[in-house]
Amino acid sequence: MTRIRFTLLTLMLAVLLAGCGEPDLLYQTSCIDALLAGSYDGQMTLGRLKTHGNFGLGTFDALDGEMVLLDGVVYQVGSDGKAHTPPDSMTTPFAAVVMFAPETTVPPEATANLTMQEVRAVLDEGLDGLNVPYAVRMIGTFKFMKTRSVPRQSKPYRPLVEVVKKQPEFTFHDVRGTIVAIRCPSYVKGLNVPGWHMHFITADRKAGGHVLDFRVGRATTEIDSLTAIRVDLPAGQAFRELDLAGDRRQQLHTVER
Ligand code: ZN
Repeated sequence: MTRIRFTLLTLMLAVLLAGCGEPDLLYQTSCIDALLAGSYDGQMTLGRLKTHGNFGLGTFDALDGEMVLLDGVVYQVGSDGKAHTPPDSMTTPFAAVVMFAPETTVPPEATANLTMQEVRAVLDEGLDGLNVPYAVRMIGTFKFMKTRSVPRQSKPYRPLVEVVKKQPEFTFHDVRGTIVAIRCPSYVKGLNVPGWHMHFITADRKAGGHVLDFRVGRATTEIDSLTAIRVDLPAGQAFRELDLAGDRRQQLHTVER
């Protein structure tokens, strides 16, 4: 009886751990340079992605919108700015996720009424060094929030820098919601986005996108300091044959803004 109980317990623990990911790990699928090069074919299901994190951002197969992963739920913000929850069978070509476990809280007073640039500067100042990644969640009201999304692409895929020339943008006023942010060290260039990368979802979970600008009303910021990065590369020949030589930092700069 005890033995059976023990086996059951071990089994349950294994199942639990399998669905838990690793703490303080920034997990990502593919690299940002592949996405910039037009590698938009999804290669990891959302179901699998969520075993590595409950918080993060990314995009979808065929570049079909902006991804916000929050509290274990994936939201897909389409090119109309509206959010919905895609099935776990949907795939992603690029996403960065963590098992969010913040150890620091920044009170609303520290960022009240600040612009995006000011918020980033204030947070940077308070972070424990900029050579590790951080996952940051900011919940509250925003006086305005400007986001963009990307329209679903068809083959042959164009580079991301071409796609975003006609990106739909959305502006919200006095909106409640959550910013899901990843801040990476400058040395990740080529793999991920150096510096801040923020996505937004409204409190009613009906709209959002990739953050371009905002002004805070009143919001609480929580910070999870990370200690490791894992990059899983896409399987298959397409990725292996992609021309990833060359420096795409300028392209990334354009794409992020
Ligand atoms: Zn983004």
